[in-house]
Amino acid sequence: KSGLVWFRADLRTVDNTALLAARETCDSLVALYLATPMQWHEHHVAPIQIDFIHRRLQVLREQLRALNIPLQVMEVADFSEVPAAVLSLVDEHQVGHVFCNKQYEWNELQRDHQTGHLLSQHQIKFSAFDDSCVIPPGEVLTQKGDPFKVYTPFRREWIKQFRMQGAAVQPVPAAVEASHALNLSNGSSVGASGIADKVDEPFTYPQTDSMAWPVDEEAIRQRLLTFCEEKAEDYHKYRDFPAFDGTSCLSPYLALGLVSPRQCLAVLLHEAPNCLDEPESGAFCWLNELVWREFYRHLMVAFPQLSRNQPFIAWTRNVQWQESDKALKAWQQGLTGFPIVDAAMRQLKTTGWMHNRLRMITASFLTKDLLIHWQAGEQWFFSHLIDGDLAANNGGWQWAASTGTDAQPYFRVFNPTTQSERFDPKGEFIRKWVHELKDVPDKYIHEPHKWPGAVTLKYPKPIVDHKAARLRAIDRFKLAKGDN
Ligand code: FAD
Repeated sequence: KSGLVWFRADLRTVDNTALLAARETCDSLVALYLATPMQWHEHHVAPIQIDFIHRRLQVLREQLRALNIPLQVMEVADFSEVPAAVLSLVDEHQVGHVFCNKQYEWNELQRDHQTGHLLSQHQIKFSAFDDSCVIPPGEVLTQKGDPFKVYTPFRREWIKQFRMQGAAVQPVPAAVEASHALNLSNGSSVGASGIADKVDEPFTYPQTDSMAWPVDEEAIRQRLLTFCEEKAEDYHKYRDFPAFDGTSCLSPYLALGLVSPRQCLAVLLHEAPNCLDEPESGAFCWLNELVWREFYRHLMVAFPQLSRNQPFIAWTRNVQWQESDKALKAWQQGLTGFPIVDAAMRQLKTTGWMHNRLRMITASFLTKDLLIHWQAGEQWFFSHLIDGDLAANNGGWQWAASTGTDAQPYFRVFNPTTQSERFDPKGEFIRKWVHELKDVPDKYIHEPHKWPGAVTLKYPKPIVDHKAARLRAIDRFKLAKGDN
């Protein structure tokens, strides 16, 4: 029996549910990755993420080759062309069973539904597995059997179930030994399907350099180990300080499935076996973030409108947002006159990554101080983030904009200056990214326009008055809700 493993956001061979199932079921396997540049355009996928995927595919190809599984990397325009492309590869290699891990976003679910339907018409089996969460969406429910809308009780139930199924996160099996592979035509880069193998060529999509993020197995394993061995213990103390390297920086690896959340938890629990009983510990605090990741994925499945541009709280559709290209551009380019916001936005633009505390500050600034629609920010983030992930990004934006489930209440508005004073007290992070401010004394680094020497600065004055902007935002939300 021959099978096809279709890789998507699960670019690893270790602890990959679909791959394991395929290897147990089939005698011979071929693997596929399908690039969809027009779909990426439509979804605003960051060029740095595409570069990261492209680089990882070279590694994946080698890993699969060691298992005797040839990887074909192909390109079609968008999801509408995917079912036929999969079918043609299936025909070409006389495959009887297609395996993949589920993606929970709406368009991805439709794509898989259509692919499964077409394959079934040709008597080809299609199996999609839950893989990207430790506990699959739909399994963490209230006593009434409903999805949780609030995080803390979700976490309580998640931990309860996790304790019960603890065995599932025992150290993950090493990559399984080789099997007989299908004989792909050697040397030719064009199969009978007529679709060119893209593994050595760039995709038809802009790619920006992601080399700062290694994609080889050893480096990723080391990053996870080093974090769990050396940093997890103090994670709760340092995680909010962007000038400090206190978080794992594993987000791109988790978003694209180069590492699984089970692997993360297996290593964490090996280092901190009692952390589930120590809610004050750094290790628990990190586990909590992994559970947030699961929460947002579960929500996306339970409330599909979330991946279709809808707010979670219906009345927030009535909020009258400001349309201002000028203010939006200032935010995007890091020229708002609020140093912490500008430093963060420049970090994003330059590196494709932003610290979590700064994601919260900049998202709050856009949606409350500038009162610009959260979708404009969501899109800008997604089009620049190497770890762009619809569930986490949408969840984060709707949290900050007070439109989401268990979101920041609309009347609680971050003060960007106070946040800056608290989380970058000496302005180290600010000075790293906003070079214009390098000579500003610590005392004025959060509000450089108040520095007596400010006239010499080539740095904008604040584009809004925070106090007034806060009141305006609260008023607009009150009005939308009908709270008067
Ligand atoms: P760590 O602090 O080491 O956390 C470990 C892992 O837990 C992360 O790698 C991530 O997978 C997960 N995680 C941590 N915090 C969150 C969270 N609040 N929500 C969901 N998962 C979390 N994360 C993304 O992976 N992709 C996104 O597109 C994304 N967009 C965001 C947008 C906004 C407005 C906000 C407020 C947050 C967003 N996050 C996103 C969540 C969070 O900022 C990043 O996951 C985190 O900064 C990544 O750094 P790290 O790997 O060092 O995280």
